[in-house]
This record gives sequence, structure tokens and C-alpha cells, in this order.
Amino acid sequence: MRAIVVGTGAGGATAARELAVKGFEVIIFEAGKQFKPFRRLLSIAGPLRRAGLLGNERNFTRLFPPMDITRSAEDLVLVRGLTTGGSTVLSCGNMVRAEHGLKEIGLDLTPEFEEIERNIGITEFPMERWQPVTRNMFEAAEKLGLEPKATPKAVDSVKCVSCGLCELGCTTGARWDSRSFLDDAIHAGAVLHTSSPVEIVIIENGQVKGVIIKTGNKLRTIKADIVVLAAGGIGTAQILKASGLPAKDNLWADIVLTLGGVLKGANQLKEPPMVWYTKDEDYILSPYLDILSHWFHKPWRNVSIDDRVGIMVKLADIEEGAVFEDGKVQKTIKEDDNIRLDHAIGEAKKIMETAGVSGPYINGVHNGGHLGGTVPLNKGDVTSMKPSWLPEGLWVADLSLSPRSQGLPTILLTTALALKVSRKITGDLMRD
Ligand SMILES: Cc1cc2nc3c(=O)[nH]c(=O)nc-3n(C[C@H](O)[C@H](O)[C@H](O)COP(=O)(O)OP(=O)(O)OC[C@H]3O[C@@H](n4cnc5c(N)ncnc54)[C@H](O)[C@@H]3O)c2cc1C
Repeated sequence: MRAIVVGTGAGGATAARELAVKGFEVIIFEAGKQFKPFRRLLSIAGPLRRAGLLGNERNFTRLFPPMDITRSAEDLVLVRGLTTGGSTVLSCGNMVRAEHGLKEIGLDLTPEFEEIERNIGITEFPMERWQPVTRNMFEAAEKLGLEPKATPKAVDSVKCVSCGLCELGCTTGARWDSRSFLDDAIHAGAVLHTSSPVEIVIIENGQVKGVIIKTGNKLRTIKADIVVLAAGGIGTAQILKASGLPAKDNLWADIVLTLGGVLKGANQLKEPPMVWYTKDEDYILSPYLDILSHWFHKPWRNVSIDDRVGIMVKLADIEEGAVFEDGKVQKTIKEDDNIRLDHAIGEAKKIMETAGVSGPYINGVHNGGHLGGTVPLNKGDVTSMKPSWLPEGLWVADLSLSPRSQGLPTILLTTALALKVSRKITGDLMRD
């Protein structure tokens, strides 16, 4: 039985591993190249920033192609990983169970969460290695009754050198990413093709027959019995729409906005991002030096990286946004999102003030990197783990399946969804 898996991020690597281990012939197509961390950011971007020559965030993708940055509206950029490991290679290694909207559709992922947490190994980053400003802000959040907690992380503190640049790829291998599941899949016999974007899925008489991929300027048809799309909230929707299938215009992104303050010699970059967090119903607050805003946001320009202090708001946004078949994305920040962001930023400011971080307090760039909702599961789909409108043999195993935005880290949710989908595939076929 031949299965094609599209994408090697949190969902794709999990699905490829499960199918390969269960004896499927697995072919993996990945649009990007093999991932390499970006080691030269500080040497390249520092002088350009000082000379005012960095331009806009699109230049970042030119310097570092695995980080794909798209402007989906005047005031919102979306970030994703286009490379082996997908967005997980750009992640901060936060590992939190995100379950918004699952109970409502009758989906319990507890066994999958437990299994993956055991697989990955999750710990907290030792408090004695947090910068003083981060500890002070933690205590301030406690005083304000916000009940901060150390963030569960897939970061090995012994290997971590506290460079603070997790999102450019971990240079020491301290932070887990989905390439470890991908390696397991390859070890079990899966074959990986990089630089091979899938353009469309071939469907005949309601049955999947394979995919068409692009290599260089050539299109190639590859046949398979099963196709598992895990190209992420944008990539999967693009492939479906290009194949004439109705991906939904419910894209969510978990909008991030970082409030910047100032403290001389704070050195917030000298620790992993987001070592603690506070959780409200639909957002989290977490210490974070937003490098996107530092490099590209004019209002942040006159403060050096050593003196910049940030607290991030990560908000569960309204699930509305469209991906088109050419890959363009339309997603705006809704009025209700802005109202809730303003409230959360107010809380972040209180933490900073209480911790002795001074102003001017300036918002950073609105961005989102948790891309889901374009193939949402509903109540009727949970038994099969497959939206009923997908043709026979076509599956989705990524964050697109989550109907609700989370305002929380989403790797665990994605891997748990992908594991459950893969077990449905193997279970169904073993029964046949
Ligand atoms: C900067 C950043 C930091 C983050 N930090 C965290 C964190 O600390 N903790 C956390 O839990 N979550 C974090 N996230 C979110 C998390 O990484 C994603 O939610 C998760 O990886 C989604 O998994 P996915 O499989 O849906 O998509 P992805 O992991 O993005 O994988 C999609 C894959 O599909 C490939 N692809 C796309 N189009 C095609 C195509 N046409 N053909 C073939 N391949 C294709 C991509 O190259 C990629 O490999 C972060 C995200 C970003 C952007």
C-alpha cells in the first residue's frame, strides 16, 4: 500500500513516521530544502539595521528562506516554516496541550497527548538561568494575581547556550523539532523528496489517485493509494483549492503582539524565549524579545537589543481568513481581536511597570504563526477523523483540522491530531 505524505512539519513528520512504522510504502514530498539554522543574523542584520537598510520583513525571507513571511493585511504578517521540519524548526520549543473547541466536537486527544509528551520529553527551563528582568516580571505577574507558570518545553537545558534565537533554528540541537520524527520515518523505510512542492491532488471518480509535484520547471505525476496532506493551514488549503476542493475560509493564526519596554542592560535575548507564561481564557502573556519587531518595526528602532524588554500576547483570533489556489492569503485583524488585544496588552504593561521596566511602551508587529482551521473537523467527522467532503483516500493530518484558534502553542495539538488520523488510516486499512 503506497502512501504519499505532503509536508514534514509537526503533522507530516508524525503521520509519515506512523505509516512507515506500520509497513506502508511512504513517499514524502517537501516543498522546502533541508533546514539549516541561520547563524549569521546578528552579523548581517545588525549593521543593516543601524544603516536603516533592512527594509521590510520580506527581506528577512530573502536572507533566511526557510522562514516564509507573508503580509495577509496591511497590519498582519503570517509566518511559517517552508523547509524540512516545517514551522517546528522555527519554534520556541513550547509544549502545551491546546484543546479549545475539541470537547465541543467530541474529540478527546488525551491518549495521543500523553504518548507524544513521553516521546518528546518535556521539561521546564531552569529558573536560575532566566535573566533577572524575566524573574522580576514573573514575580510581578504573581503579585498581580496572574498565576504565571514555567512553560513546559522541549529544550534540553544542558545543550542550550541561551542564544535567545530559537526561531532561527537551534544551532546546538537542544530544541526538539519534527525532524526527529522524520528521521524515524526514513529509518523505517520512508523516502523523502525535498524541493518538491505538491501542486494538486489527482482525483478520479471520487477516489484519490496520486499527486502532481513540481521539480524545477517540470511537473511529475506520482501515483498512490493514499494521500495525506500535511502542508500546514496555508499549504494544505492551497493544494485543496488548486485541486478543485473546497477548503474553508476559516484560517486562524493565533495573533501575536509584543509590548516593548526598556530596561538598561536587561539582556533578555540571553535566555530562551517564553520561559514562563500566564493563561487567560483566550490569550497568554509570556516574556519575549520579538526579533521581527526589533529588526523591522520603525517605532522600535531607537532602543538597542540589550535594553529592549518584551512581553508577548498570543491571542486566539477570530477564525476568518482565506487561502487562494495561488497561495495568496487574505486575513485581517477583526475589531473584536483588537479589543481583546488591547485588554491583554494592558495586562502586559502592568507586569512591566510592576517589575520596574520603563517606557516608552510600544507595540510591535502583529504576526501569526499558528496556522489552522482551513479543513475544520466537525462533530460528524470525529469518528473517521476525516471531513466528509474529502474524497476516498485523501486525508489531512495537520493544524488545518483544528476548528478553533487556540492562543496557545500548537505543536502538541498538531502532532496529536496527526497521530490520531494516521491510526485511523492504518486501522481502516487493516480491517479491510
Ligand atoms: C516562528 C514560530 C514559532 C513557533 N513556536 C511554537 C512553539 O514554541 N510551540 C508550539 O507548540 N508551536 C509553535 N509554533 C507553531 C507550530 O510550529 C505550528 O503550529 C505547527 O508546526 C503546525 O504544524 P503543521 O504540520 O500544521 O504545519 P508546519 O509545521 O508548518 O508544516 C507544514 C509543512 O508543509 C510543507 N509544505 C507547504 N506547502 C507544501 C507543498 N505544496 N508541498 C509540499 N510541502 C509543502 C512545509 O514546508 C512544511 O514542511 C511556532 C510557529 C512559528 C512560525
